[in-house]
Formats: sequence, structure tokens, C-alpha cells
Amino acid sequence: MSRIFEITEKIRDYAPKADIDLVNRAYVFAAQAHAEQRRSSGELYITHPLSVASILADLRLDTTTIATGLLHDTVEDTHVSMDDIETRFGSEIAYLVNGVTKIGQFHFESSDHKKAENFRKMIIATAQDLRVLLVKLADRMHNMRTLNFVSTEKAKRVSQETMELYIPLAHRLGIHWIKQEMEDIAFSHIEPESYQHIVDLLKGKLEFFQETQVKLEHILQEAMARQGFQTKVQGRMKHLYSLYQKMQHKQVSFDEIYDIVAFRLIVDDSSTCYQALGVIHSLYRPVPGRFKDYIALPKPNGYQSLHTSIMGPENHRIEVQIRSQAMHQHAEDGIAAHWIYKGKQSSPQEQERLLWIKQLTELLQESENPTEFMESVRLDLFIQEVYVFSRDGDIYALPRGARPLDFAYAVHTDLGHHCIGARINGIMGDLQTKLRNGDQIEVLTSPDQEPSRNWLRYVKTPKARQAIRHYYRRQDSYISRRMGQKIIQEVLGTPPTPKLIETLHCNSLEDLEIKLGQGDLNVDSLLEQAEHTLRLPLHSLQHIQYGADCCHPIPGDAVLARMVKKRGMELHYRDCPYVLNNHEQAWLEADWHAKPKQLYPTAIEVHTEDLRGMLSHVTGLIAKLEANINDLNLEQRAGEMTHIHILILVSDRIHLAKILRGIRLIDGVIKVKRKNHRELTPHRSTGIGDAVKGMIAKGRRSLLQSTKKIRGKSS
Ligand code: MN
Repeated sequence: MSRIFEITEKIRDYAPKADIDLVNRAYVFAAQAHAEQRRSSGELYITHPLSVASILADLRLDTTTIATGLLHDTVEDTHVSMDDIETRFGSEIAYLVNGVTKIGQFHFESSDHKKAENFRKMIIATAQDLRVLLVKLADRMHNMRTLNFVSTEKAKRVSQETMELYIPLAHRLGIHWIKQEMEDIAFSHIEPESYQHIVDLLKGKLEFFQETQVKLEHILQEAMARQGFQTKVQGRMKHLYSLYQKMQHKQVSFDEIYDIVAFRLIVDDSSTCYQALGVIHSLYRPVPGRFKDYIALPKPNGYQSLHTSIMGPENHRIEVQIRSQAMHQHAEDGIAAHWIYKGKQSSPQEQERLLWIKQLTELLQESENPTEFMESVRLDLFIQEVYVFSRDGDIYALPRGARPLDFAYAVHTDLGHHCIGARINGIMGDLQTKLRNGDQIEVLTSPDQEPSRNWLRYVKTPKARQAIRHYYRRQDSYISRRMGQKIIQEVLGTPPTPKLIETLHCNSLEDLEIKLGQGDLNVDSLLEQAEHTLRLPLHSLQHIQYGADCCHPIPGDAVLARMVKKRGMELHYRDCPYVLNNHEQAWLEADWHAKPKQLYPTAIEVHTEDLRGMLSHVTGLIAKLEANINDLNLEQRAGEMTHIHILILVSDRIHLAKILRGIRLIDGVIKVKRKNHRELTPHRSTGIGDAVKGMIAKGRRSLLQSTKKIRGKSS
């Protein structure tokens, strides 16, 4: 059991100017908070934070981190609040404690490799500050050491979680000893039989190992001293789990593994490493092909050393690693070794943070292949993802800025399509709420819900975007097809023959229906071809009405169309009383284009003073403007007014407007207007028109909803 003074002594060793008072205060506070709480082992609870702090001191971390280690369970397990921590220890420690607490709330229950990877990423993202991760690792390290006091089941579950989450983290951070120790403990709980088997196999080697270690240490030390080098020699045995893995993966027997025993020489600097290598190779014959220079070519996580294998005493192969003190510290403590204790007590927190980032950056620059390393250490600053949970605890990685719909679509397309809302951490949330790390999301759905085009404005993931677009494409073609079916039914009255479909360059009936509905194929072509192939009576073509008698629309007017059986399409001015009175019919939006030189009939009404020669002035102007008069009659009103009704032929709206303007300028003309049209404005009227549209929309929602354009006949 660690005691507080042992920890503070350890700190003083590597950081003489450290704020020991802070560590002591944190200890007293934690001890009071945990009071009589006990662990499964029966020990007082405070032994756990003390052990965590001790591990952090082994990693030579700063006092802020060590204090965090002492306080890490106070908020989770006692009456202490985050505010209490902040008041007493400041915002930095509160921030770190909060980070550790948050990670503690994740519960991982999956053997799915991909999920585990996401989970690890989430832990890193949540940690934000690397020191949070280090405290969490130390916490887990001590919990692993005390697993013998919990139930077999729990021990196994915790071991599994450690294997999936914390060991890879320790590896990525390069904290070798934590990785190895955790692996051996987890191994013993997950596969107790295999573990015992390896232990038994090693027993035989143990004696040899101990004898050789003593002998070799002495020989090497002497040889180095003769050359004037200070050397520390450490013997070590390969750890159990890595032996097991080697036997499993490489399919080798225990006797074939020759690096069970290894020696490590720690010297002053890197040039001494190479000199030491020479000394060793002069004493014992090297095994060919076993030399590796990780000093010149460090591993991706920054690891540096010289590795060689020699034929040692009694022809036993022995692996030897040679490294400098600094390389050794990095190899053992990884990234923690770079958290160099500066001892600047008065330096502002901000500066410390900048320093930390700087060190991180330097570290990244140092390593040969920074990609993997980068992945593991880029904290909040670099992380572009948020990690969220489903109701069932599955974890999803989404891009930053993702919203509940992104999540819904990530789970399942149908869940997205029918999404009407979401509960975020149990609280009803807006569909536009940006998700945060660790949020738990429950998607609310309704079978009546359909995707809205508006959603495209705020979904973030390509998956959601594509799903919504795809839905609309399908929906559009569905509506188009129904419209095409309607056109065929009304225009032909019979299903089109395969020959007709072929003549119209369509692949299938469905293709024809969609093309007609979308306006890619106009109704005229259908009729013209039907004329040839079906031998429909010719009048069917002639009787297609492109301007109904009541309102005489002309190209440029806002028109609505309806299909008339065996006659084709009938166009009405949008505000035409006929439309108003028959709004329940299937009115289609029509896009009507004028054909050059073609004239269309429309009716106008001119009110004039009862002046002689008035009629000839009006007709003269019409002729001058190249329009034809089809019909004309006069209505003499009692008194002084004359109404002239004229059916004229014009090319389009602009042509008509010119004529109306001209007529109005004639002396004696009181008023001029189109018949059955409310206003003489050049643009489309609103008011009643919109009312009609509303009515139509109600009556024939599915057909008009998409405001499909159908091209009317122009010949
Ligand atoms: Mn803990």
C-alpha cells in the first residue's frame, strides 16, 4: 500500500521544486470525502486513489495530474461536487477530474472490434487533455491489480474491457510497462487455463534465467567498465501474454521461442549504445539477421533501441537491448516521459497548455511515421468526430456538427425517414441540436413521417443526405408515373401497344409513363404516334383544345391543364371561372410554349364612348399590329357607352399586351380588358388564383404536389 509521504518523496526525487502542498491537500480532501468507504478487498477506499497517485508519480507526472489522481473518484462516489473541487483546487484540476469522471461513465459491452475502436476514439475525444487519459490508465492499472477481490464474472468483464480499450491506449501512448502488466493480468482472468499452462512452462526456465542473469550482468558490467562506460544491466523475462501470443500467432512451441530471456543495457547516450554493441559482440557470437537499429530508424511510437541476439553461455540464445537513459524512459513511459516536469510553479495555466501542445507537436515531428501516433494523441484539438450512443448502448462515430437526423440515418435509413424527433440524454431535443460526445440518443418516429427537403439544409453526413435525396427521386418518379398513367388513360383510353411504346423510344410501359409524367415526352408525340399505330380517328388530333372557349388562354398565360378523354389536353387560364367551378378535377400545371408564327385566339372587351368611327380606329390598330380578328360584335348600352367584344388572334401575351396598350391610347376608349380575366396586368394575377390553387392542392394533392410541368402542344 502506498502512503502519501512515499508519493511526495518520489515526486521530490524528480521535481525538487514541485508543489507538494497541493498533493497533500488533495490527499486530505480525498481521505475525508471517502471517509469510511471500503473497497472489495476490505481496505479503506483511500488506498485506491493513493495507489493511482503513486502510479502517476512513477510516470513522473506533474503535481496537477497527481492531485487529480487523488481526487479522481470523489465526485463519482462521494457527496463532493465538481464545484467543491473547483473552489478548492482551481479550474484546471476540476477540468481534469471532470474528464476522468466522464470516461468512467462509459460502459463498454462489446467484443466487436470496430465498436471498440470507436470507443477508444471516444475516450480520447472526451479526455481532451492527455493527462485525463493518463489518470484513467493509472486508475485502471490499480483496478486490474486488485481484480482478485471481485467476482470471477466481474473480473472477466473488466479484463475484457481492458483488453479492448485500455491496453491499446497504453500501447498507443507508448507506456510499455502498463501495457504489459495489464495484459498479463487480463490474460489470467480471460483464459485462466492457458495462463496457468504458460506459468508452468516458465517455471523450468526460471532457474536458468536467474543463474544467467547474475552471471551475465557481472560479465557485461565488467567488460563495459574496462572500456570506461557506466552501464546498468537489467535482465528481464518476456511477459506471459506476449509469449502466449507468439505461440498462438507464429505457431511455435515454447522451446522454439528464444527471446524469453532478454537483457537490457542502459548507457549514457546514443553513441555509447553502438560502442556497447561492439563490446557485447566481441564477448558472444551474434545470431545473424537478428540485429535491429531502432536508434537510426525509430518505431512509429518513437521507440528507440539497438536489438541484437547473441549465443550466450551454454549456447542459449539471448536477446540484448541497448539504449540510452532517455530512450529507456521513453520506452517505458511513452508519452508520459515527454510530460517533462518544468517546476515552474507560477507559470499561468494557459502557458502550460501551450507548452503541452508544443511538446506534443515536437513529439510528432520526432517520430518517423507519425500517422498512427498522430491518430492516438490528437486530442480535442484535432478530433473531427463526435461519439454518441444509441438507446441500446451501441456507439456511433459521426462528424462534428452532426445532428439527430444524422444519427437516425446512421442507424437505419427507415429510422431517418420516419424521424419526428429525438430524446438526447432523456430530454426532448430539437432536430437541429448539434450532438456532443457521449450523448445518448433515442430517435422518435412516426409511420406518417416522410423526409422533408428542409432536412437537407442541416444534415451533416453524406449518408443522410443521400438517403433523403434518394427518397425524393423515388417519390418524384412515383408521382410522375401516376401522372403519366393518367395522361395515357385520358388521351388514348386504351393501354399503349408495345409497338407504340417502341416507336416513342421508351423501354417499357413504365418508362413511357414516367417520361410522359415528367414532360420529357409531350402529349402531341403520343397522340401523333397513336394516330399511326392505333389508327385512331383523325378528329382526335384536331379536337385537342389548347385554349378553352371560356377564357382563351394564350402562350405566356399562367395556365392549368386537364386531360379530356379522346381529346387530349385542355388549357384554362389559371383564374378562369371554369377552373374555380371544377376545382375537384385533376388540374395539372402546364408549361406552354408558343410556336413561331402561330396565332392563338383570345377574347377582349373594349368600352368606348359612343363616338362615331370608334370601331374602325380599334380594328385598324389591331390590323396594324399584325393580329387577326376572328369575331366581333358590338353591344350598344343605353346612353353613351359601347362595348366591343373582339375575338382576336395573337401570337402570345406580349403581342396581346402591345395591342391592349395601343387600344387604350385611342381617344374615346374608356377601358380595355381581356374577357374572363380579372386584371389587365402583364403579370399573373394572384388572389383568386391562389385560392384555386389551394383548393386544387387539397383535392388532388398527390398529382399537383410536385408542381410538375407538362408541356402543352405548340403546333
Ligand atoms: Mn478509480
